[in-house]
Amino acid sequence: MDKIKMQTPLVEMDGDEMTRVIWQWIKKDLLEPYIDLNTEYYDLGLVHRDETDDQVTIDSAEATKKYGVAVKCATITPNKARIDEYHLKKMYKSPNGTIRAALDGTVFRAPILVKGIEPYVRTWKKPITLARHAYGDVYKNVEIKVPGAGKAELVFTGADGQEVRQTIFDFKGSGVIQGMHNTDESIESFARACFQYALDRKEDLWFSTKDTISKIYDAQFKDIFQNLYDTEYREKFEANGIEYFYTLIDDAVARVMKSEGGFVWACKNYDGDVMSDMMASSFGSLAMMTSILVSPSGVYEYEAAHGTVQRHYYKYLKGEATSTNSVATIFAWTGALRKRGELDGNERLQKFADALDEAVIETIESGKMTGDLALITTLPEVTKLGTEEFILAVRDTLDQKWK
Ligand code: NAP
Ligand code: MG
Repeated sequence: MDKIKMQTPLVEMDGDEMTRVIWQWIKKDLLEPYIDLNTEYYDLGLVHRDETDDQVTIDSAEATKKYGVAVKCATITPNKARIDEYHLKKMYKSPNGTIRAALDGTVFRAPILVKGIEPYVRTWKKPITLARHAYGDVYKNVEIKVPGAGKAELVFTGADGQEVRQTIFDFKGSGVIQGMHNTDESIESFARACFQYALDRKEDLWFSTKDTISKIYDAQFKDIFQNLYDTEYREKFEANGIEYFYTLIDDAVARVMKSEGGFVWACKNYDGDVMSDMMASSFGSLAMMTSILVSPSGVYEYEAAHGTVQRHYYKYLKGEATSTNSVATIFAWTGALRKRGELDGNERLQKFADALDEAVIETIESGKMTGDLALITTLPEVTKLGTEEFILAVRDTLDQKWK
């Protein structure tokens, strides 16, 4: 059979440690035998980031803006220990932070569901994608420890010198105060990314804040979402048979628990931080969670939600057997290839991505899986496979389907 051709390059961002090893195996065993892979390669491994003073990360983000779709391997975010380990020139920023800032993107986390790895919430049948606003609020706050009695005020001085002033509290004794902000521009980018993503998935979009209590701050979020929906997205949503709705965060939490899943849940920064960790663990495993960065201009970057699996890498380096789960990294590749196929009208590429996803799921459902899943599965007969063994088992399943 002819290999699949790709018209436009996919931006490929290589990474670190165990996921870098897995990356090569996925390409060699699952992609290159079937596709004439057309990628523009950027090595975001820490060694090369250091060699280029991190310019390679910026270049890869620019290439993503140019071509529209990227796939990224997990990368090390340097800390003190990594500076010593890799003899780094300096403490580079997190590549994900740099790329997110360049793309002005929102991160969507979506679980991969398979039979035998059951969500802890019994009613969940379909994935719930969590969208977290990644700017402002408590993450960019200013705090003061109040030493004793006194008046706390909120003051805004306009560029024209006009002042707005409000009393926060008349302190009789010691306490604390906090100032937070967000910008209309950032909220609107977030809203746009959420509407765009829900349209892509053809799933309902939920958005929740606490606007009954925060009548100006949270109400601003609600209004910006509603206004954008009414002016740009309502018709597109209706044409696709999906809906947008707003509800209070407490109501949303209660409804999520009783739902079947199958929607996108947009959350403010703090709510999204807390809820994404809850969702990741309640769907079963971090190794089965994908992460997609979507910019408001419609640029996409796909990756696994987990890190470089350092502990397994050190075992691998010592020549010991490893059983690292490659599913989220495979799904990052198929997500990116499918999106590339959609944008280029390349149906064979899209079909291949679907077939590879199905092969992964069928392989696990037949009882062949890595150690992390073998520990939590409800399937009765399970074969625990090594890291590359699992990838090769997926290859066998794929060969039955893709002829
Ligand atoms: P991690 O790589 O996510 O791994 C933490 C633990 O979770 C592992 O030790 C392993 O548990 C389990 N795990 C995660 N992914 C797995 C997989 N695919 N298969 C099997 N088990 C898996 O987090 P970390 O060890 O805290 O961080 C390592 C490096 O990753 C750090 O340098 C960090 O900066 C980086 N990081 C990068 C990203 C990114 O690029 N998006 C995200 C997070 C972290 P057991 O050891 O119990 O088997
Ligand atoms: Mg968190």
